[in-house]
Amino acid sequence: MIAENLEQVRNNIKEACMAVERDPSEVTLVAVSKTKPVEMLKEAYDAGARVFGENKVQEIMDKYDRLPGDIQWHMIGHLQRNKVKYIADKAAMIHSVDSLRLAEAIEQEAAKHQRRIPILIEVNVAEEESKFGLKTSEVIPLLETISEFEHLEVKGLMTIAPYVENPEDNRQIFRELKKLSVDITAKNINNITMSVLSMGMTGDYQVAVQEGSTMVRVGTGIFGERDYKH
Ligand SMILES: *Cc1c(COP(=O)(O)O)cnc(C)c1O
Repeated sequence: MIAENLEQVRNNIKEACMAVERDPSEVTLVAVSKTKPVEMLKEAYDAGARVFGENKVQEIMDKYDRLPGDIQWHMIGHLQRNKVKYIADKAAMIHSVDSLRLAEAIEQEAAKHQRRIPILIEVNVAEEESKFGLKTSEVIPLLETISEFEHLEVKGLMTIAPYVENPEDNRQIFRELKKLSVDITAKNINNITMSVLSMGMTGDYQVAVQEGSTMVRVGTGIFGERDYKH
């Protein structure tokens, strides 16, 4: 079941790429495994998944030692500063950096492990009250401040688009995030690259890929419905 779902999602990504003449190898599939048991993650691993997305620090810690070491764990959920220390040696990427204070905490913990942690800036493009993330206008000032941080590697931007019935309704959101990344690239800020655009979930990843996503975060489409919403 999981292997078939993965295959389906990979094919959909390929088709979306072909529609806009993109190379599918530009798009990384993050298998969002939050709330799912390690047995299901193993199934996905056996079907070739190597990048897993979790939204709780505790869950990364619980799963980390029980699964193969070549998995890349991506922290995609809201992250509290006091919990950064638990994943500073485990996270391959943190998608949800939305404040200077959090960036500072990651910088400090990464330094303790003598590593640079790849991060994305979370942008609340639609400015939904219920969501975390910076406003579009706040992103460049933050980047200018953290570009000096030696243990952060800013790789790009992430957004969680609104929940919609029709994925076309999010196309404009994805365009805006892409445009912001292009504007940032043009500013040539030291140590900041915009190679990653993390956008698109089960309901809208094909549209996101058409609009330039390089990282889609798919949970339900691979593992099925979750018992409770996170
Ligand atoms: C849960 C979650 C996803 C995956 O959502 P699906 O709709 O199940 O694909 C993607 N991104 C984030 C940040 C999430 O919390």
